[in-house]
Amino acid sequence: MTVRTRIAPSPTGFPHVGTAYIALFNLCFAKQHGGEFILRIEDTDQVRSTPESEKMILDSLRWLGLNWSEGPDIGGPHAPYRQSERMGIYKQYALELVEKGHAFYAFETAEELDQMRADQQARGESPRYDGRALNLSAEEVKTRLAAGEAHVIRMKIPTEGICRFPDMLRGEIEIPWTQVDMQVLLKTDGLPTYHLANVVDDHLMEITHVIRGEEWIPSAPKHQLLYQYFGWDMPTLCHMPLLRNPDKSKLSKRKNPTSINYYKDIGVLPEALLNYLGRMGWSMPDEREKFSLAEMVENFDIKRVSLGGPIFDVEKLNWLNGQWIKGLTPGQLLDTLLTWKADRKLLEDIAAAIQPRINLLSEAVNWAGFYFNQFPTLSKEQFESKKLSEEQVRQSLQFAIWRLESMFTWNNDTVSQTLMDLATQMEIKLRDFMPTFFIAIAGSTSSTPVMQSMVTIGPDLTFARLRHALEIVGGPSKKETKVWEKLNESLKLPKNDAVDNT
Ligand code: GLU
Repeated sequence: MTVRTRIAPSPTGFPHVGTAYIALFNLCFAKQHGGEFILRIEDTDQVRSTPESEKMILDSLRWLGLNWSEGPDIGGPHAPYRQSERMGIYKQYALELVEKGHAFYAFETAEELDQMRADQQARGESPRYDGRALNLSAEEVKTRLAAGEAHVIRMKIPTEGICRFPDMLRGEIEIPWTQVDMQVLLKTDGLPTYHLANVVDDHLMEITHVIRGEEWIPSAPKHQLLYQYFGWDMPTLCHMPLLRNPDKSKLSKRKNPTSINYYKDIGVLPEALLNYLGRMGWSMPDEREKFSLAEMVENFDIKRVSLGGPIFDVEKLNWLNGQWIKGLTPGQLLDTLLTWKADRKLLEDIAAAIQPRINLLSEAVNWAGFYFNQFPTLSKEQFESKKLSEEQVRQSLQFAIWRLESMFTWNNDTVSQTLMDLATQMEIKLRDFMPTFFIAIAGSTSSTPVMQSMVTIGPDLTFARLRHALEIVGGPSKKETKVWEKLNESLKLPKNDAVDNT
């Protein structure tokens, strides 16, 4: 048997370091067994998936050197590797399960399902599909289908007993069937859910080992059952420990930048980031800290993954990156520096921004320096304003972060509009509102136009700098966060509907 593993990202946002971490372990496992590592795009969520996100994910994995041998960009024997291009495949499998009596049609409307869940919660039960459509007679189902009534297909789940499945790292995992919902397999629009598409594709693509994050453990009973229903062998499962913030909470962008692009932007070397991810819950037999991907593959043993939540600590990563930099010859470092931001478009945008401000080329260094920094050096005093209260400064930063983060496209129009709307809604004149952002992004109020600078440095560095500034001026407490979230939303409403917060 050839070992075949895969990374199956959903292209719904920035390329996450967690995706690279899981890809790395899949690649090492496959290579160590002389097998194949493949990439499949799981874009069944057509509302949240975007081609831009897919491109960023592929680019960043490639930048790291996590190369796949089959994928949407290079094809392969099981093409296509993008689920949106495989939509014709899944329905027949859902129908097969209905035919075999393992799945059923359900016709409830969204309102009925809401009501059902509300009733369950009122009774102190956890919300779940209660199986009501299982009571429909075959005749009634036929009539309703013939009448074209909207429906989904759900899988049957045992009502009692315990589901047991083996995990490479955790031994046998047990989950009572009562905790497993009768999962929708095919949605009203005839398209598959993640669970159906994932199982069908892993089978068709001959995946032998599924190595993924532990957040997928609750899905495993459904998957195991689907394999049984279809009569297919289930790949061996392996649930990796989740990456954590230094305070042990699940790694989140609120506490740590999580986008691979951010680490690239601040000058982390791909070798160092991979090395660091390789040390997340895993170590070399001789415990050495610095190792290459090839060395990791050579020494890989998945059994040495420890389940204690690995801490993603940026300080530690920076230290390791320093070790990699020190290991380069000056010539190699120069080449690395010259290629780091050697993006013609980026450099031309910076040139255009500083052009009206310089008389001597040598002045470019001061004007352009902040484009390449991680953060400017900031003090709290810099944010003191004659026109704004401290609370307004803190809120403008926090609200801007929330709003910019929910934007799908990052360009001059979207960034400017978002900030101008926020200023208007907070009833602050733009000229009083903007200095906070100049300081957060460029470290000074005399700099190139800040909204344009944000576009040029890109979303990852922008968020990191705004968050850094917020930390300096004092981010909201947990309690404040709740109040501010509501306030931020209410500001967006037409004036008359806004909540009175005075
Ligand atoms: N599309 C899922 C994700 O976004 C894949 C989970 C799995 O590996 O089964 O992580």
